Amino acid sequence: MAQPSTGYPKNLKSEAVEPMQRKKALSRKNLWDAVPPSLKRRFGWMLEMLRPEWLLGRTYRVNCQFVRDAQRWSAGRAREYQFSKLHDVLKCAYEGTRFYRAMFDSIGFRADDLRSLEDMSRVPTIDKAVFMDNFSDICSENLRRRSVDYGATAGTSGTPMEFYIDAGRSGIEYSYLTASWERVGYKLGVPMAVLRGRVVPRDRQGLYHEYDPLLRHHYYSSFHMSDENMARYLEHMASLGPCFLHVYPSTVAALARFLLRNRRQAPKNIRGIIAESEIVYPEQRQMVEEVFGCRYFSCYGLSEKVVLAAECEHSGDYHVWPTYGYFELLDEDGNPVTTPGERGEIVGTGFINTVMPFIRYRTGDWATYVGARCEACGREHTILRDIRGHRTQEVLIAADGSEIPWTALNMHDDTFLRVRQFQFLQDTPGQAVLRIVPACGFADADKDRIHRNLGRKLDGQLTFTIALVDAIALSARGKAIYVDQQIPQDRLSQTESNAS
Ligand SMILES: [Zn+2]
Repeated sequence: MAQPSTGYPKNLKSEAVEPMQRKKALSRKNLWDAVPPSLKRRFGWMLEMLRPEWLLGRTYRVNCQFVRDAQRWSAGRAREYQFSKLHDVLKCAYEGTRFYRAMFDSIGFRADDLRSLEDMSRVPTIDKAVFMDNFSDICSENLRRRSVDYGATAGTSGTPMEFYIDAGRSGIEYSYLTASWERVGYKLGVPMAVLRGRVVPRDRQGLYHEYDPLLRHHYYSSFHMSDENMARYLEHMASLGPCFLHVYPSTVAALARFLLRNRRQAPKNIRGIIAESEIVYPEQRQMVEEVFGCRYFSCYGLSEKVVLAAECEHSGDYHVWPTYGYFELLDEDGNPVTTPGERGEIVGTGFINTVMPFIRYRTGDWATYVGARCEACGREHTILRDIRGHRTQEVLIAADGSEIPWTALNMHDDTFLRVRQFQFLQDTPGQAVLRIVPACGFADADKDRIHRNLGRKLDGQLTFTIALVDAIALSARGKAIYVDQQIPQDRLSQTESNAS
């Protein structure tokens, strides 16, 4: 079965998009995010007396129960559910968006033509370039009447992308994450030490630390990873009682290397490490597990919310959540990969985003197919291994020699709005050049915004100048290189050379 010819209506290619809003909707999550840290500190004790699942809202609670049950469904029941959700997504996309209406018309397809999941192969796949080229036509026509959030990501191939998503998805998304983390013993309300790119100011003791009493999260700054700061972070974590780490693979590797270098013991109260959003390297996982003496656990997901996969409690294999979206693994010719050991591209149709439907969206990430049922846990989900793709562990080097993970600089806002591609060039610790391929309408205001937003995160650890260029070369395998790191290898950590 060959990949269907693309049915995109070329004549619908959109004008440069000027979206109606880049603000957040008035959702519970967004309101809480907007509360100043000082207020959270002062009134946090009241929240700590309440159960966090009640504070997170009804959507979260209801979906938690659903998700916990659904992971034990038979494959047949999951397929029935997917079929019904896909029918809804296709119908909604046809009725609500110009892009999908034209696409379905061009191939003579309607939601009612879906008789089995296999019929999805009639629908052309899309990728990020198609999505961005048709941005306004993929937006639901009644967008202005909906409660939506704006999202953005560097995504695959180094080109920033943006989209809208239902404001209510946070509770749903979070229920999947916590149900995944429960596999390694996490329970909502257990303290979590988080090092994932959040801008964290110094507290009264001079520690880069901020506390969220609702989620019991302790945030530390992953932009300030000097030995002195890491020592203080670990000391503070040791005081939290039983807790989990929520980190990027590169930040926890930096903590582990710090402990090894200084012959220090890891805090004994850390019950598990949840490392997400970058490639997980087996050697690095092993090193971190040895240093911390606990399980290293990872989930795979995307800002576009089309696929979520979480590791098994019994192994490092990923189980794809069948109720989160419709998952396909396709080879280079667009055929489904069903032979264990073969690799394919992760393609997803999301069930969560009804504002801008992602239908058969090629993620640019590749994985090895392992099977359809896990003997160890009994879940009848697709099993994947060795997920590789646009995620990298590239780092910038701060003035004091510490590492700043690129992942932490991937802005989920309008920072790179009028930027087609970008890349840091670094040959001196503490300094870098940000090369930018400008998009239509790029002006000084955009430069200022980039300087302001990135500068806020980098906090003087690294200064950069902006250079406008015509093009940025991709790696030999066609992937984006976000950091062209020219500082000699022996001054860097071992991982980033593997990332391409
Ligand atoms: Zn399993």
